[in-house]
Amino acid sequence: MTLLLIAIAIVAFATLAMRQSPLWQWAAAALVVGLLSRIGFGAWDLPGLIEVFLPGVVLGLLSVPDIKRAAVIAPAYGFVKSILPRVSRTEQEALDAGTVGWDAELFSGRPQWNKLLGVKKLTLTAEEQAFIDGPANVVCSMIDDWDTRHNRADMPPAVWQYLKDNGFLGMLIGKEHGGLGFSAQAQSMIVSKVASRSIAAGITVMVPNSLGPGELLEKYGTPEQKEKYLSRLAKGLEIPCFALTGPNAGSDAAGMRDVGVVTHGTYQGKKTLGVRLSWDKRYITLAPVATLLGLAFHLHDPENLLGKGENIGITLALVPAKYKGVVIGRRHYPARSAFMNGPTTGKNVFIPMEFLIGGTDYAGQGWRMLMECLSTGRAISLPAIGSISIKQSLRVTSAYARIRRQFGIAVGMMEGVAEPLSRMVKSAYEFEAARSLTAAMVDEGQKPSVLSAILKYQATETMRGRMNDAMDIHGGRAIQDGPSNYLLSGYINTPVAITVEGANILTRTLITFAQGALRAHPYLYREVEAVQNKDKRAGLAAFDAAFSGHIGFMLRNMVGSFLHAVSLGRFASSPIEGEMGHWYRQLARYAQSFALVGDWTVAFLGGDLKRKQRLSGRMADILSELYLLSATLKRFEDDGRIAEDRPVVDAIARDCIFNIEQSFGAVFANFPNPVLRNLMRVLVFPLGRHAKPASDRVNYRLAREVLKPGAFRDRMTTGTYVSFDPKDVTGVLEDALKKVVAAEEVESKFVRAVKKGMVERRLDRDAIADAVEAGVLTTEEAAILRVADEATDRVIRVDDFSSDELARIESQREPQHDAAE
Ligand SMILES: Cc1cc2nc3c(=O)[nH]c(=O)nc-3n(C[C@H](O)[C@H](O)[C@H](O)COP(=O)(O)OP(=O)(O)OC[C@H]3O[C@@H](n4cnc5c(N)ncnc54)[C@H](O)[C@@H]3O)c2cc1C
Repeated sequence: MTLLLIAIAIVAFATLAMRQSPLWQWAAAALVVGLLSRIGFGAWDLPGLIEVFLPGVVLGLLSVPDIKRAAVIAPAYGFVKSILPRVSRTEQEALDAGTVGWDAELFSGRPQWNKLLGVKKLTLTAEEQAFIDGPANVVCSMIDDWDTRHNRADMPPAVWQYLKDNGFLGMLIGKEHGGLGFSAQAQSMIVSKVASRSIAAGITVMVPNSLGPGELLEKYGTPEQKEKYLSRLAKGLEIPCFALTGPNAGSDAAGMRDVGVVTHGTYQGKKTLGVRLSWDKRYITLAPVATLLGLAFHLHDPENLLGKGENIGITLALVPAKYKGVVIGRRHYPARSAFMNGPTTGKNVFIPMEFLIGGTDYAGQGWRMLMECLSTGRAISLPAIGSISIKQSLRVTSAYARIRRQFGIAVGMMEGVAEPLSRMVKSAYEFEAARSLTAAMVDEGQKPSVLSAILKYQATETMRGRMNDAMDIHGGRAIQDGPSNYLLSGYINTPVAITVEGANILTRTLITFAQGALRAHPYLYREVEAVQNKDKRAGLAAFDAAFSGHIGFMLRNMVGSFLHAVSLGRFASSPIEGEMGHWYRQLARYAQSFALVGDWTVAFLGGDLKRKQRLSGRMADILSELYLLSATLKRFEDDGRIAEDRPVVDAIARDCIFNIEQSFGAVFANFPNPVLRNLMRVLVFPLGRHAKPASDRVNYRLAREVLKPGAFRDRMTTGTYVSFDPKDVTGVLEDALKKVVAAEEVESKFVRAVKKGMVERRLDRDAIADAVEAGVLTTEEAAILRVADEATDRVIRVDDFSSDELARIESQREPQHDAAE
């Protein structure tokens, strides 16, 4: 009887929790369970009756709104107010700037699949496609990365001119202003293609199309400013840069000391209302060649001349680089790369109000403006650089691993080498999926602040890992620098992408989960807004609605997470059936667990969330894996379920689920409260953790697949610039790969003969000729082998220099000025 009653109660309350039922239904259920227990046991004594009916009565009373508000909501309001993370003005503006989409679905614990699968798949206009196939390819063919980074420490004038003339620097500027007006998807793919040839050129194209004057003017510029600058920016007649960072304000950019004071001064011979501006900025990309300087500073108005109070807030201005008092032109030397980067300063420079972006209306709105542009910029540029670096390194490494032979076989066939190579295959598929999905979201009008932060740090972090893999697989070939080294420059430049637009440690540990929880959680943001409402009555009412929903949400996640865990996700939702349905269900299962654990983490850590970064970092990792898996599954659908790609998708999904379980394990092991920690562990892993990463056998097969030239390798490396010219730095690989594959059978025959001692490979002999003479190869076979051998020699050759040449290179590399700023 007891067991039956417990079972009835569990089913009833679990159903109510899963349905997020209102309180009166809980009260009714509690009363019914109480009544059944009395009937079942036939016990009608008063203390027993009180005991069993009390919960139902209390719940019933609480379902009366006024009682609930007085007894629960008001005390909870005070408590929550004291523990919720404090949100500063700049954080508030950052939170308000972005939109939520699929991230909110993941935070909700019950993702609505149409919000993922409904995002438009990769599409380009005919004009965009023609640009990628035309000018983007042409400029790639013009770039000699060694010449750029060593001989000139700059791109050659012809490349600069080509970029300007063809609108590369104004892709985001609308056609009405003479720009290309390209979609986010096209911009991302063009930046990618150029960066696959040269990171320096990629960054040069990326910056004017990312957070900077062009976008700020498009969105907030006055009609006069748009008229004056946009068409010149679009044609490359103005080179823009944007200066936010200074010596004392890096990650904490809002803490900058740069200041403008509203005052009267003289401009073009007339007394004018304006700003006396002082700044000290560094690390500014394109600054040394910029003609137009975007500046961020704190604006003060001690005499209240603008009528906005004394401290107006962060404000943005556009100042011509030639303007009196602007100091610009020296260069930093970022990772020894050739792109332009440098400091700029100015002291008490008077600028008229018309220099403020958007005019005086936008004075004090600078942080919001930057954050609004950042969420879209971060979704496009750096993910493009990160994902293309992964794909490009796979393109060259897969060729090299097939061409380079040791111990008589291609090094890529060896299990030790296949392991990093398979990582490269999976990352290439996964990050192209995430890049393309996020760009498509931007094209739909979203400003995905959380997802773009995830993508930025994951793509650039993974780029670092895969560049390491590529370097390792190449061995000495990629270490010896020179005109034929196609990897070292990308490898050295990885920290650039990792650091800019929010350095990765901060982005992972602070922004993704802490801001993500506030922004994308279904109730938290409403609770924060409610407790910060100056009108306490309105605040309390809003808090009541949000808090009640939050309790129901929490109960649902507890029950849902547990049920999914004991059924291993078999009954979780999936938009499709068949094999891939399994991964959608796993995604739904872990999204619900993420919603549960995320919720409790925020509730427990409260204001400490920003400090407890190891926990928030791991939660960010779980959210990232959920997003990357979502993107991977969507790409598989969008690509038309290509059977050949199924093993890659399976392997990625396995790794993602494994990583998610590991991160949950680390959260539980380190969660400060032992009761919550154990409760979460029981709810999420009642049967323990079982996920396993992709097996060695599967990974090996992926590596084998990509060693073959063909559609699979092309798909994994889509968007990269590919040359087949044997004289080209990477074309030499493609040329050799074809020849080596064509000679494979002959080569095996030859190697067998060498092993048997029928032919000797010695420098003082022509082994191929010897093989013909020994009857091992026919003359036709020898010709095929010789062609492959010659192509292989070109690939494995590295550069050498005389000491004089090296000294000259070093002296050319020296910056043209003192190192000290
Ligand atoms: C090549 C290059 C180009 C750039 N281009 C531009 C440009 O065009 N315009 C511009 O304005 N800026 C530019 N920057 C600046 C860039 O945005 C900053 O470098 C970046 O914001 C980090 O600042 P920082 O280097 O001073 O590092 P710091 O702020 O000193 O940070 C040091 C480390 O501490 C971590 N950290 C800091 N605070 C926290 C926190 N609260 N929680 C966890 N970790 C934290 C960071 O993640 C980082 O790892 C560029 C930088 C580089 C290197």
